Amino acid sequence: MMNWDYAQPVAIRFGKGRATEVNDVAASMGLHNGLLVTTPSFVRNGQAQRLVDARDGMLTTVFSQFSPNPDVTEVDACATAIKANGCEFVVALGGGSAMDLAKAAASICMGDESIAQYHGTGKTLPGEHLPLIALPTTAGTGSEVTCVSVLTDRALGKKAPIVSDGFYPSVAIVDPELTYSVPPYVTACTGMDVLSQAIEGFWSKGHQPICDACALHAAKLVFQYLPIAAAHPDDEAAYIEAREKMCEASIIAGLAFTLPKTTSSHACSFPLTNLYGIPHGEACALTLDYFARINQDAQGGRVQEFARALGFANASAMADAIYKLKASLGLRTDLSDLSLGDEQIAELVRISRHPNLYNNPVEISDDMLDAMYRSLAGIG
Ligand code: NAD
Repeated sequence: MMNWDYAQPVAIRFGKGRATEVNDVAASMGLHNGLLVTTPSFVRNGQAQRLVDARDGMLTTVFSQFSPNPDVTEVDACATAIKANGCEFVVALGGGSAMDLAKAAASICMGDESIAQYHGTGKTLPGEHLPLIALPTTAGTGSEVTCVSVLTDRALGKKAPIVSDGFYPSVAIVDPELTYSVPPYVTACTGMDVLSQAIEGFWSKGHQPICDACALHAAKLVFQYLPIAAAHPDDEAAYIEAREKMCEASIIAGLAFTLPKTTSSHACSFPLTNLYGIPHGEACALTLDYFARINQDAQGGRVQEFARALGFANASAMADAIYKLKASLGLRTDLSDLSLGDEQIAELVRISRHPNLYNNPVEISDDMLDAMYRSLAGIG
């Protein structure tokens, strides 16, 4: 017998062309003066301005001064902009970086503290926050349905998630059209993030039945549709279907992991991104097949069952398929180009000892991490 709790407070609106519903959503919540958080590329290509112009003056301020893997100082700057303009809600239009920054800023703007106070410190954020409407433009992190904000403190060399119930967006508007412009490499990276979240949510020590069902559904969609979405075939109908299915996979993988939490591959992704600039999804995928082999017989055969439900002979065949998928998408399958030495391996091992590692169903020792990184680096 196991006890489990499930709750999902985000209202989801899914479908092509539905980004235009931001107005209705804000109006139905009685909101008038909003701040739009969006990636600098959407400001450059005019998409942000088009959204502002179409919102009947509801979006009064645009904040775009942030980088991928947003920094705590950028969150504080956004919170300052919210307060300076008296904004009463926040709209996030972008990938995980825009949504995570917006979530944290919409909470921290209620007081005078820096978000750094809550970053990897274990201190609980107050629950009060401004309403957030999330429009993901990648598929993706699933951040539109999670209570997680992953932030970086570049001054301290730290990347870590903050979890707060106040981070759940009020509404997620998932419009697959917003993802059509994502370049193939970003499509591949973000799509592998979806797969990592689904698989890690399933084998996490915190797994539970509803999230298990979501994990299986999302992982199936990734194996089927990510190669098509990333390849952008001439068959436009197939491409549009693939983009839509990847958006579906992204939300559902978000639901699969937000309560159970991610595990080993995410723990290892943080130093790989921080120290070597490997994009988040590519960094997660780098170790996913390795941990699939380590975890294959954990939890009384659940991982084997998961692999068979996906149509693989067993978990080892699933690990092979993950490796092949990465290679076919042009993502890295090792670290051999980085010329890592003993010192760098030791640093990777040390920083991988992140809380997420303890959600892994098999206990991961430093020796196991050392062997994995040496194997990936191609050194004995
Ligand atoms: P991202 O938001 O950093 O975007 C990657 C790049 O793609 C950026 O240059 C961005 O400008 C560009 N881009 C985004 N949408 C585009 C579009 N439609 N067309 C063209 N270019 C576009 O990438 P991401 O993978 O979505 O997010 C990664 C961040 O999210 C990381 O910090 C990661 O740790 C975090 N994350 C958060 C959660 C969560 O639950 N909060 C889960 C997983 C990952």
